[in-house]
Amino acid sequence: MNERLVILGSKGGPAIRPGGPSPTSSLIEIGGRRIVIDCGLGVSRGLVEAGMALSELDLILITHLHSDHVLELGPLMHTAWTAGLKRPVRVFGPVGTKAVWDGFCASLSYDIDLRIDDEGRPDLREMVTITEFGEGMVLDEGGLTIEALRVEHPPVTECYGLKFSHQGRVIVFSSDTAWFPPLVEFARNADILVHEAMHPEGVDRLVARTGNGARLKTHLLASHTMAADAGKIARDATVGHLVLHHLVPADDPAITEIHWIEQVRTSWDGVLTIGRDGLELPLPGSKHQRKTA
Ligand SMILES: [Zn+2]
Ligand SMILES: [Zn+2]
Repeated sequence: MNERLVILGSKGGPAIRPGGPSPTSSLIEIGGRRIVIDCGLGVSRGLVEAGMALSELDLILITHLHSDHVLELGPLMHTAWTAGLKRPVRVFGPVGTKAVWDGFCASLSYDIDLRIDDEGRPDLREMVTITEFGEGMVLDEGGLTIEALRVEHPPVTECYGLKFSHQGRVIVFSSDTAWFPPLVEFARNADILVHEAMHPEGVDRLVARTGNGARLKTHLLASHTMAADAGKIARDATVGHLVLHHLVPADDPAITEIHWIEQVRTSWDGVLTIGRDGLELPLPGSKHQRKTA
């Protein structure tokens, strides 16, 4: 397996537009594990386009229960099930994730029961384990650790940045958050920091187009991070590579990659990638292998 990070959906917020990017989801393939981070609309399609068979699903992490991060959790699992999922899948998410899953299963019970009887499939409801987590260690298994840091995303209180570590490689996701200095320590010397970002002029343009503009702007400023501030987190944490993710706006033709880069370059002069759907980055070789090579 090629070890890689794939940004499946790069857009912040639930809306979709013609030809535009999808809401948030990502894939990490590391140490033989496949880890899906967030399940915004389009995650199933994104995984298939990235070359991952849905029947190979392994671990799913949900950072918080905003719909642009969880709307397609049930449909992804169901689609994987009809694609021949044979082994159990573990889903980790904040308090409330089990209710989302149980509600989905209840809404699809007709189809699920039908396919068990008619097609002889195992029971989907027994193939998925939901674990609700808080701050701290989420999973420590076979050399892979996943840790959670509660971030600042009002009014959501259960929202977690995530750190994935395997044989010395570290990848950190900010999740949705206002500028949050504790991420510096959490992401210290990470190989890759995937941080959410807003563009200041883009936000003004978005707010001007929207009916409830003032209210939207207040929400955005209180609970999300400007691109230049994401750069400061990367700089202070001395990460190896900053990837901007969950872009707001992601589909304004006036805000292009160069505009994002301009913002980040005010604070960060290291390796930088602006996220887009399908973006694939190879992971650094395991430090264990490098030492013994
Ligand atoms: Zn979001
Ligand atoms: Zn959110």
